[in-house]
Amino acid sequence: MKIQIVAILVGLLSSIQPIHASDAIIVYSARMAHLIKPLFDAYTKKTGVSIKFISAKEEELLERLVIEGENTPADLLLTVDVGNLWLATEKQVLRPIDSATLEKNIPAHLRDPEKRWFGLSVRARPIMYNTEKIKPEELKDYADLANPKWQGKLCLRTAKKVYNQSLVAMFIARDGVEKTRAVLMGWVNNLALPVLSSDTQVIESIANGQCEVGIANTYYLGRLQHDNPNLPVAIHWHDGVHINISGAGVTKYAKHPDLAIQLLEWLSSMEAQDQFAELNFEYPANPQVKLSAIVEKWGSFTADTLHVSEAGRLQLEATHLMEQVGYR
Ligand code: FE
Repeated sequence: MKIQIVAILVGLLSSIQPIHASDAIIVYSARMAHLIKPLFDAYTKKTGVSIKFISAKEEELLERLVIEGENTPADLLLTVDVGNLWLATEKQVLRPIDSATLEKNIPAHLRDPEKRWFGLSVRARPIMYNTEKIKPEELKDYADLANPKWQGKLCLRTAKKVYNQSLVAMFIARDGVEKTRAVLMGWVNNLALPVLSSDTQVIESIANGQCEVGIANTYYLGRLQHDNPNLPVAIHWHDGVHINISGAGVTKYAKHPDLAIQLLEWLSSMEAQDQFAELNFEYPANPQVKLSAIVEKWGSFTADTLHVSEAGRLQLEATHLMEQVGYR
C-alpha cells in the first residue's frame, strides 16, 4: 500500500516541471498560462522583478505544496474556485498577510476573513438558455429548473467539477440540505443528456438544441461569442446568481514573501485588474475597474451575497448529496 502511495506521489511530482528557488518570485498557477503570462511580463517590465511560474491542475499544485513543505520554492499560489482556495487553507499551505492595499481593492466577501487568500476575478455561474426555444419570462431561478416543465430540456456539467460542488454548497448554505436535495433530484430527472464534461459542451448543446437550458460560467459563453456573435444562447439573470472567484495567496513557506505580497497587491490594482479579468471575459474583483465590452453587454446582475468561503466549508457535504441523488 505504502509503495503504491509513493508511486502516485512520484507520478504527480514528475508530471510537472521541477522549479528551483531563485531570486525570481515563483508562482504555482492553476490559471492557464496564456491568461497570466501577459500580466507577469508587464509586472517584470514595470518593476524589474522576474517571475517564474508553472501551470498545472489545482490538485497537483496543492499536492506538490503539501509534499514540498518548507522546501517549496513557491511564493504564490494562484488558483481558480474558492473550493480550491479553501482546501489550500485546510492543508495549511498559505499564510495570513496584512495588506491595506488588498483590503481596499478587494471587497470583503471576496477574500478570506483570515487573510490567507484574496479573490482576483469573479466568475458568475448563471442559467443560460436557447433564445430560439425559450422566452426569458419562462425562466425563474436554479430551483425552478427542478420543475417537471423542464423535463428532457436541461443540460448540466458533471458533479465532479468543483464549480458545481461550490454551486451546490452555496444552495446548502442558503436553503439547507433537504431543500437542496429536492432541487438536485428534480435536475437529474430533467436532464436531456447525460452530464457533460465541460461548461463549453453545456453551452454548445444549448446552442444546437439538444437541450434548451443549462448552467455555465459566463466566460465560457464569452469565448464562444467572441468566435460566433450570433450564437443562439443568452444569460438569464435572476436574484442571487452564484458567483465564484479565482484568487491567490502567499505560501506559508514563501522564500520571497514581501515580493509576493507586492505582486499580489499589483494584481489587485486598477492597472492589472483590467487585463486580469478581460483576458478571460471574467468580472474584475476590484469593483472600480470597468468591464470588457462583451461582459458589459450581458447586463448587470445581483449576485448571491453569502461569503464565498461557504462553498469551501460545505463542499464535501455537497459532493455527498449529489452522489446520493444520482447526480454524477
Ligand atoms: Fe473554468
